[in-house]
Amino acid sequence: MTIHSFTDSTKSYETTEEGCTCGDWTYRGAKTGKPCKHMIARETAIATATAIAFLALKARYDIRSQAVIEAKRANYFYYEMAIEAA
Ligand SMILES: [Zn+2]
Repeated sequence: MTIHSFTDSTKSYETTEEGCTCGDWTYRGAKTGKPCKHMIARETAIATATAIAFLALKARYDIRSQAVIEAKRANYFYYEMAIEAA
């Protein structure tokens, strides 16, 4: 994933779960194993995308279940109308 520099918008780094092309990771993180801010930003972006995808899926499911409720209500209405007509 390409993460743009927080201090210089013209710079960007290739960031993965294992490392980053920035100086912070190259000179410090790679030795200590402590993720740089780009790796943390990447994790946050993925977590956010997952959460949004989950909410979108949930919303779709809720709409569908609402449609089922509406369909049942409509069927009951037609059933009642049919009784009255008979
Ligand atoms: Zn980095």
